[in-house]
Amino acid sequence: MIINVDVDGVLRDIHTPYINIYNKIHNTNYVLSDIVNYSLDILLKLEKPKEFFLKHYIPIFRDAKPYNNIEYLNKLSKNNTIQIVTSQYKGLESTTIDWLNKNNVYYDSIHFTHDKQLIKGDVFLDDYIYHLNKSTCSDVICMDRTYNKEWNGKRISDIKDLYDLLNTT
Ligand SMILES: [Mg+2]
Repeated sequence: MIINVDVDGVLRDIHTPYINIYNKIHNTNYVLSDIVNYSLDILLKLEKPKEFFLKHYIPIFRDAKPYNNIEYLNKLSKNNTIQIVTSQYKGLESTTIDWLNKNNVYYDSIHFTHDKQLIKGDVFLDDYIYHLNKSTCSDVICMDRTYNKEWNGKRISDIKDLYDLLNTT
């Protein structure tokens, strides 16, 4: 089975450092549960979100913590092909590759694209409804986050759920 897996919001928690940095700069008190829309830029009223990300890429991307249980992806890799399919700002690709290596994420291939449906696979796991809706994979799975509650399809809470799901169906 070919499993296409997103990085940010699925394996890497960029939202916690993002909100912490924003709160520190703007003296605000946003918490993760305030993020009810995928675009934090709207919530945080950022005029130049790309510049904000690029300026703070070290804490947001390089030093971000992994979500719990991402090691289950490595268990899945024993009997499946893992393709990382991620949309990144140009220039941050190597930071993401380094992060995956640092956090011992095994993968067979990595694809940087905004058109994720171009990468064929059997399973598609993402946290962004826009990508979930466009996927042509037969099994489309949402990583449960506060900002994707409108998704009506299959949903998991962490990578262990994916492991359990694929090993019992
Ligand atoms: Mg994502």
